[in-house]
Amino acid sequence: MPSWIQPPFQRKVDPAPGAADGIMVKGSRRHEMTLRLYRDDPLLLEFDARVEAVEGKGPHWRVILDRTAFYPEGGGQPADHGSLDAIPVIDVQEEGDRVLHFTTAPLTKGRTVRGQVNATRRRDFMQQHTGQHIISASFWKESSLVTQSVHMGENETTIDLGASEIAENLLERVTRRVDAVIAADMPMSAVEAAPEELPRFTLRKPPPVASVVRLVRIGDFDCVGCCGLHLSSTGPVRLALCTGWERIRGQVRTHWQIGDRAVAYLEERLRILGDLRKHLATRDKELAESVRRLQEGNTDLRGRVGLLERRLAEFLFRDMLAATETVAETKMVTRILDNEPLNVEKSLVKALLAADNCAFALVNHLPDRLSWTLGVPPGISMNFQEMKALHLDPLGIRGGGRPPLWQGSAPASIEAECLQKTLSNILKVTLK
Ligand SMILES: [Zn+2]
Repeated sequence: MPSWIQPPFQRKVDPAPGAADGIMVKGSRRHEMTLRLYRDDPLLLEFDARVEAVEGKGPHWRVILDRTAFYPEGGGQPADHGSLDAIPVIDVQEEGDRVLHFTTAPLTKGRTVRGQVNATRRRDFMQQHTGQHIISASFWKESSLVTQSVHMGENETTIDLGASEIAENLLERVTRRVDAVIAADMPMSAVEAAPEELPRFTLRKPPPVASVVRLVRIGDFDCVGCCGLHLSSTGPVRLALCTGWERIRGQVRTHWQIGDRAVAYLEERLRILGDLRKHLATRDKELAESVRRLQEGNTDLRGRVGLLERRLAEFLFRDMLAATETVAETKMVTRILDNEPLNVEKSLVKALLAADNCAFALVNHLPDRLSWTLGVPPGISMNFQEMKALHLDPLGIRGGGRPPLWQGSAPASIEAECLQKTLSNILKVTLK
C-alpha cells in the first residue's frame, strides 16, 4: 500500500452512500468487456487480470484485459501510467466498452498479469481533479460562474469560466472558500443515478446526457456529474493556488497549482525569495522597494554609459583620422579595437562611412572571437567574393555584405594583428 493512502489519506467512508439515500445504483458496468475496478476503488493500484486480446504491433501494442484499475483518459483527466508484468503502460484509452492499454512490448493472450498503476501520477491527477471540483463549485457559489472546460496538464490545471471578466475580489473570495473546504476534509462520494432520479439532487450543472449518470458529491457542498477519479475526501488536496487569469476566446481562463504541486510551487518561491533576500540584503517586505530603486539606478546608469560610449566613439574616430595612410589618393584607416562595446563599434563604422574619401578596416578583439568590418568610399568597387576565397576562407574567417560595407567574425584562435594585416591587404589591392 503506498504511503499516501495511510492516514491522513486513508479511505473515508461516506456516511450516506448512494443506496442509503434511496438512489438506485445501476448495474450497467457488469456488461462491460473490461471491468473498471477504479470506479469502486479509486485507491486500488495493484491488481491481477487476464489478457483478453493483444492488438497492433510495435513499438506500441494495445492490450485488452478482463479487468483494470488503469484510468483511461477522459473527463479532462489524463490517463494513468504504470506497468503490466513490469512492461511499461504508457497510455490508456477508452474504445467503446473496452479499455486499451498501450504497452511497449507485447503480452501473451490468456495469461494472468499483474497490473501496477503509477501511484505518484495517480495521486497527482486525483488531487487535480478533486481540487478542480472544489474550485468550480466555489466559483459557482460565489458568483454563479459556470465552468466551461478544464485542462489538467503536467504542469498546471486550467479552468475556463463562462465570463468575459472577473470581479476584483472574486479570486480572493473563491480561494478562501476553497481553503475552507479543504480544511474541513469533507467526504467525497460517487453514485450512479437514472434521469428520473436527478431531481433528488442539487446539481451544480445539468448532466449533458439523458442516461444513467455518475454523480460526484463533496459532502453537502457540491454535486455534479463526472466519470473521473477523485480522492475520498477533500483534505488530501492540501492546497490550491490561483496563479493568474487571462481572457481567451471571450472567456476567462484561470490557472491553478493544486495539491503537492502547489506545495512544491510555494517551496520553490520561498527558495527564490531567500536568494533575492540574500542578493539584495534586505527583508521580504522591502524587496519590491529595493528592486524599484535598482531599476531606477539602472536607468540612470544606462544613460551615463550611453553618453560615455558616444564620447569614446568620437575620441577614437578623431584619433583614427589623425593616423591615416593614403593609398591611391584614398585615406585608409586600420585599427584593432580592444573589446569595445557594440555601440561604440557601430558609431565608429557610421562615422567612418560618412567621412570624406575614407576606406577602413576595423578589428574588434572580443573575449570569445574577433569581429571585423571593411568599408570603402563611394565609387570604389571590390570583388569581395574573390577576396574572401583568396584571403579569408583559408583562415576560416566568415563574413559578407555589399558595397560599401562588409562584416564578419573570426575565431579567437586567430591573432588580431594577423586579421588586421589580411584586411589591410584586401583594402590595398582594392584601392590600387
Ligand atoms: Zn470529477
